[in-house]
Amino acid sequence: MTDRQDRIGRRRLLGACAAAAAAVCGASGAAGEPEGPDRLVEAGPMTMALTFDDGPSLVSTPEILATLRRYGVTATFFMIGANIEKYPQVARQVVGEGHRVGNHSWSHPAFEGLPAAQVRTEIERTNAAITRVGGRRPTLFRAPGGHFTPACMTVCAELGLRPVSWSVDPEDWSRPGTDAIVDRVLGAARTGSIVLNHDGCLSADHAPAPGSPCDRAQTAAALRRYLPRLVEAGYRFTVPGPP
Ligand SMILES: [Zn+2]
Repeated sequence: MTDRQDRIGRRRLLGACAAAAAAVCGASGAAGEPEGPDRLVEAGPMTMALTFDDGPSLVSTPEILATLRRYGVTATFFMIGANIEKYPQVARQVVGEGHRVGNHSWSHPAFEGLPAAQVRTEIERTNAAITRVGGRRPTLFRAPGGHFTPACMTVCAELGLRPVSWSVDPEDWSRPGTDAIVDRVLGAARTGSIVLNHDGCLSADHAPAPGSPCDRAQTAAALRRYLPRLVEAGYRFTVPGPP
């Protein structure tokens, strides 16, 4: 399956899951629409959210933290439990610098067809890892690949986790070039945006070789360029979900 086909399938799945989750959980929107994962933040004009998935990683996460620190910006890091276990000191740094840590499963499996019991184990194990590194019990969950299956939505509801998707995807994971990531973020960002980035990778090497699949140097470099532009434009940054 191509990445494009996968993305199209994912969009269809998200719609189907939203309906299925509403049936399971009884959730419904104000206008009778079923609720799916959050795609936007609602925190007033010129407010948006930056999110970083698949970390922590030894090289790129600290670089990204340095940029966020420089501009006084708080972000959300959806961490993989197995990577927290590998790099607890980096996870502690993220927590210590005041960022929100969300749950992104333990091993980043494909959730389609995964029984609810396994989904629950993936999530609970990661919740425990996050609290072990000093983070508060997570309230936010992002499904691997954005595959919010009905089982996933049910388990999230049971565990008090808010499912969070995104509205701006620069596809930084595919390493399209720093210029492309900058252009895609700046071209799509607006009030309420949730921007998807990746500071790590499943089974990342300690120091991924430049250009290797887990190399996130472009993501870190792009942030150094687009964040000051967004700050200058007057954007403020929040985290998804209720305060
Ligand atoms: Zn991911």
